[in-house]
Amino acid sequence: MAFRADIFWKSACGRCPDCGAPVRGADDETGRLARLWDTPAHCAGCGMTLRRKEGFFLGAIVWNYGLTAFGVLPLVLAAYRLGWLEAVWAIRLAVAAIFVVPPLIHAFAWRLWLGTYYGFLSDQLPSGGRRLDD
Ligand SMILES: [Zn+2]
Repeated sequence: MAFRADIFWKSACGRCPDCGAPVRGADDETGRLARLWDTPAHCAGCGMTLRRKEGFFLGAIVWNYGLTAFGVLPLVLAAYRLGWLEAVWAIRLAVAAIFVVPPLIHAFAWRLWLGTYYGFLSDQLPSGGRRLDD
């Protein structure tokens, strides 16, 4: 089982991990702000199911938590350690970040999860024979 970085990269960039087309078609009317947390249910290019059945979202939550806890919060801690923030403002900023950041990176975390999943299990892509309706 070799990791397919090309599939991960396609997905991370908002493209379908299978066909490579943008997952949002030209007729997608989702607002720019809503695109931060909304992931289309199906690829606009090939119809591949992007939001699979119950439980699949847990991988996106792991990415979301990881990016928030190990990507954003260390920046707040570093700002405090460097003296750029007082302790009370660092705490306020950290609390605000844990509520604001996850919804704003939800779609990105979902794309990273799709890329991770299909990067490792590329044989489960529809082009590999898996059904489209799962
Ligand atoms: Zn597709």
